[in-house]
Amino acid sequence: MIRQLARMAMYRLAAWEPLLGPVRKRKLGGKAVVLMYHELAEDSDDVEAWTVVKRGDFVRQMDYLRSKFDVVSLSQAIAQMAQPDSSDRPKAVVTFDDGDRGNRDVLLPVVEELDLPVTIFVATRQVQNQEPYWFDRLVNALQIETPVTVTLPAASPVTCVINETRGAQNWARIQYLLSSLKKLEPTTRELVVDDIVKNVERHDPRSRGIVPLAINEVRELADCPLVTIGAHSHCHNILTQLDRRAVFESATRSKQLLESWTGRRVNYFAYPNGDFNDAVVSAVVEAGFEAAVTTAPRPWGRGEQPFTLPRIGVGRYDSLDVFKVGLIGGIEHFLN
Ligand SMILES: [Zn+2]
Repeated sequence: MIRQLARMAMYRLAAWEPLLGPVRKRKLGGKAVVLMYHELAEDSDDVEAWTVVKRGDFVRQMDYLRSKFDVVSLSQAIAQMAQPDSSDRPKAVVTFDDGDRGNRDVLLPVVEELDLPVTIFVATRQVQNQEPYWFDRLVNALQIETPVTVTLPAASPVTCVINETRGAQNWARIQYLLSSLKKLEPTTRELVVDDIVKNVERHDPRSRGIVPLAINEVRELADCPLVTIGAHSHCHNILTQLDRRAVFESATRSKQLLESWTGRRVNYFAYPNGDFNDAVVSAVVEAGFEAAVTTAPRPWGRGEQPFTLPRIGVGRYDSLDVFKVGLIGGIEHFLN
């Protein structure tokens, strides 16, 4: 509790404009930041998931962002970052990963109301099958009031009690489960997740959870001139765990499906989980993309390689102060 209060006070101070303004100017002059969200939900939706940001919080974050940054589309940012820049006002790009229903139900009206350019990186298998990927299936199964104990039958068994608390602390445990599962081989992981989901008794769900977009909803989003659709692979596996052929096929398949669904070219790619290596990058280049984004949480400087553009993640439990400080790359960038 005391640690939490100390943390809040530290962020309150760091986000104070007379202190933060000069740091932002020094760190971000001539640079851009790319923000990574996943989806939005109405404020009343009591979903426990870092990836689902409340609509009200998002609107406040965008108000702040637009007061300090030029918010542009990803293609505008790529074009502008290739030119010398005389203005020291930084640029910002807003992106969403995965392709969940909240992007159409909650985000799209906000985009139109605020005239806000966004890019949505859609992972196509969940849209095609209408079944969430393993991580969202697990998160959805845990959307209950009752505490549950989850044990992973891995080489080093992991046991977590979920729903004993709520909010960021509860999410930290879910996150620990997810990162332990990410280490498993994809087929084993699906079986382990199936097992957990079967064993969690789902009475009184407190949220509909995370639902994939439908194909016609992807098209509806793409028809909005403020929305750019990008690809996020077909399989949403961690691409560094696959061989190069499988990476190429997954990237190509997502590009082709999205192009056929939207009737538009798909030029940008987001690596699932942000993971990439030289083989993954070369497969994505070969698949015909023009740029790709990672999850390295730092600003984007001029002259950077377009296939490893950094992004700063924003989640449900971030206060507005944490968001403001996150834009410069985090509190550790404050002092150096
Ligand atoms: Zn993703």
